[in-house]
Amino acid sequence: MNREAVFKELEEMLPCGCVTRDCDMSKLTSFKAGGRAGALISPVNTAQLRKTLMVLSGSGIPYTVIGNGTNVLFTDRGYPGAVVRIGEGFSGVAVDGDELTAGAGALLAETARIAMEAGLTGLEFAAGIPGSVGGAVFMNAGAYGDEIKDVVKCVDVVSKDGGGEFTLNRDEMGFSYRRSLLHGTGDIATGAAFKLVCGDPREIREKMRGNNELRNKKQPVSVPSAGSFFKRPEGYYAGKLIEDAGLKGLSAGGAKVSELHAGFIVNDGNATASDIIDLMEVVRETVYDKFGVRLEPEVRIIGD
Ligand SMILES: Cc1cc2nc3c(=O)[nH]c(=O)nc-3n(C[C@H](O)[C@H](O)[C@H](O)COP(=O)(O)OP(=O)(O)OC[C@H]3O[C@@H](n4cnc5c(N)ncnc54)[C@H](O)[C@@H]3O)c2cc1C
Repeated sequence: MNREAVFKELEEMLPCGCVTRDCDMSKLTSFKAGGRAGALISPVNTAQLRKTLMVLSGSGIPYTVIGNGTNVLFTDRGYPGAVVRIGEGFSGVAVDGDELTAGAGALLAETARIAMEAGLTGLEFAAGIPGSVGGAVFMNAGAYGDEIKDVVKCVDVVSKDGGGEFTLNRDEMGFSYRRSLLHGTGDIATGAAFKLVCGDPREIREKMRGNNELRNKKQPVSVPSAGSFFKRPEGYYAGKLIEDAGLKGLSAGGAKVSELHAGFIVNDGNATASDIIDLMEVVRETVYDKFGVRLEPEVRIIGD
């Protein structure tokens, strides 16, 4: 099946507005750089998601998933296939006792705020992470020594081909540093349940405020980026290695190693995805030459 026929089938199958052809992905990603996708598909419930995945998996055209686009970079040449976005339709959050359930499209920061208001502690670390619950589960997002895996109870998942729907408990999710089972399976999270602990809302708010204050002071949060560009290499800190290699402030086109936190590559103006990737390569090579440590990107690079 050709792309045109597949996108047309999806347009006819899904409600109006769920399919955007030739979508500018720089508008949907926190890096504010990169190319276009063949189509952006935004199903608003699990039934629509499953049907979408069934069509796509049977079509032979490539497809990928995004949440809030805060840990991805689309190349300038773009992605010819379909990008399935888990967004607003999956954003419900509910609290029942010490358990909180959230749709995969809910923003993590908003989810942490709801937990705080309900007097539930455990998600304070997540208050400043700009991703969605689905992206955070996929990445096992973390900060200040805490990670999603510490609080997640189970995750609702749809199989990559849309054929199955199941719930995986925390142990089945294969969490490790910035990784989960979903990296290997390509299955899609539609929601998660978190097991939290009752606490004092004022203390929780205070902890969140402190965390965010620290983040605002130490990270370039007001400039487009995708957060820490590299994973933490065992026994080191990526930012420290990059700084010690003298790379703070280095730029390539519109991309720059942040002066505030060398672990961040920022879009300092009109960076292209190629500027960002070129700078990433220079950083990796220099750090390897100087310290023999191979930095691996945490940011997911998508496209040709
Ligand atoms: C300023 C800034 C600060 C940040 N600070 C932190 C931090 O402290 N800690 C941290 O861990 N991260 C941090 N990040 C990175 C990012 O916010 C997290 O990795 C976040 O979890 C990504 O969520 P997302 O919804 O934006 O995912 P996306 O960027 O949209 O996607 C990331 C990956 O997850 C996959 N994915 C997304 N949704 C789903 C889903 N529903 N099911 C299956 N796969 C899915 C995508 O295919 C992709 O491979 C930061 C980013 C920025 C810009």
